[in-house]
Amino acid sequence: MRSYSHWIDGEFHAPNSQAWIDSIDPYRGEVWARIPAGDATDADLAVAAARRAMTTGPWAKMSASERGRIITRIGDLLIEQLELLAEIEVRDNGKLAADMRGQLAYAANSWRYFGGLADKIEGTVMPIEKPDTVAMTFREPVGVVLAITAWNSPLTFFALKCAPALAAGCAVVVKPSEFSTVSSIEFAALTKEAGLPDGVLNVVSGYGQDVGAALVEHPHVAQISFTGSDVTGARIYETAARHMKRVAMELGGKSPNIVFEDADMDAAAMGAVSGIFGATGQMCTAGSRLLVQNSIKDEFVAKVLEATRSIRLGDPLDPETNMGPLSNTPQYQKVLEYIDIAKADGATLLCGGKPAEGPGIQGGHFVEPTIFTDVTNDMRIAQEEVFGPILSVIGFEDEAEAVAIGNDIAYGLAAGVWTRDIGRMMRMTRALEVGTVWGNTYRTYSYMMPFGGMKRSGVGRENGLEAVNEYLETKSLMLSTATGGQGNAFVPR
Ligand code: NAD
Repeated sequence: MRSYSHWIDGEFHAPNSQAWIDSIDPYRGEVWARIPAGDATDADLAVAAARRAMTTGPWAKMSASERGRIITRIGDLLIEQLELLAEIEVRDNGKLAADMRGQLAYAANSWRYFGGLADKIEGTVMPIEKPDTVAMTFREPVGVVLAITAWNSPLTFFALKCAPALAAGCAVVVKPSEFSTVSSIEFAALTKEAGLPDGVLNVVSGYGQDVGAALVEHPHVAQISFTGSDVTGARIYETAARHMKRVAMELGGKSPNIVFEDADMDAAAMGAVSGIFGATGQMCTAGSRLLVQNSIKDEFVAKVLEATRSIRLGDPLDPETNMGPLSNTPQYQKVLEYIDIAKADGATLLCGGKPAEGPGIQGGHFVEPTIFTDVTNDMRIAQEEVFGPILSVIGFEDEAEAVAIGNDIAYGLAAGVWTRDIGRMMRMTRALEVGTVWGNTYRTYSYMMPFGGMKRSGVGRENGLEAVNEYLETKSLMLSTATGGQGNAFVPR
């Protein structure tokens, strides 16, 4: 069994408390590594290292181009170590090896993209109304960034936060989820090879309520970039408000995947199935509410059911597996609870609905891919994020009703729309209160496309050029070119 330490100021650092947390492989149901149970003293060390790196270290003096080259090299190193890191993520979170490989290639591209952006962050010169005054703005790093990540895609979230933060010139402390920390520690150590100066990127591990809360409260953390549940996000937002810290929040969702009667039914059925059963439903963007036009509902649901029945559960490292286990015990229990809630509220169980059994899946947290029909949008199964393989089918009559049901939810992360009518596609896109609309596809991402939520799904955007703005402050300089003090606003006579 491997034992890990924090990564602070360019070296491994055992937790001050000498306490560790077991990291469990959800497929085998056994402990495979142990990670530090950090506390406030570890948090202090990491933030102090980041602050030193940003103020007096080589990072502060480096040209933007040089910074960019290091960030790009980090992406290259991620590609070189992709197999090793993908395997670690599979052992920690039980997601499919093929998925994790794809995600890491995406994360590497994100590092390279923001590496290229580092020396294109520019200030402006304003033609202000005052004569003899040069007015200019500088874009400056916001300060030490705290990146808190969720367990489902650790190194992807790491990249989405750290690459733009480093491009902006910030230093970062990463607090990964206690359920999947190992890849973040291994990866942080790799950044040293890329030439990243000590202290610019630190990883502190442990429970959210301990080291996470201490980091959030820390007076030298200027900005918090969080990915996780809306409940934790709200708690962190409240603390940040007390200290007037900046936040970016990537939170949960209950996304509608909306199928109209003129859609390509086969494509839409595949989109519906992969939109909820991909990653065992453990995606913020899971298309967990399948809205189907009543005129095609029975025929369409039959197609979805057929595709669902062909899903192969198994070892996430086996390339033949379509769906792995749930990532951890609390998540497994939560999914089973929601199955009971849906039944009690009157939804009809079409398939699944219980722990999965069979050869090759003993001991893991497997739940059968589950579909409920006769769901109404006011049921808890339609309103609350489950983060598991449960699909709720809801019927609608027309476009207006699809929009009304789609938006009748606290969340606003993403939506799928399936139609051949381009006018309808555009109307739906404008009417849906979500950060991303997928038209005739589902779960397509690009590191160049802004991603984030409306409503309870979050604040701010990751990916694309605007992501870097989360990590920048604008500073204004007004410089007088007047002689004899005439440039002052108040000149005594
Ligand atoms: P979570 O909110 O339980 O934990 C997220 C992180 O916050 C973990 O690192 C945890 O240790 C930390 N944390 C917990 N309490 C804290 C506290 N008081 N102070 C500081 N840190 C604290 O979420 P999770 O279960 O890890 O992830 C699943 C959730 O993440 C789902 O709601 C999912 O939708 C959401 N998510 C959102 C996105 C997105 O991009 N919008 C992506 C993936 C996951």
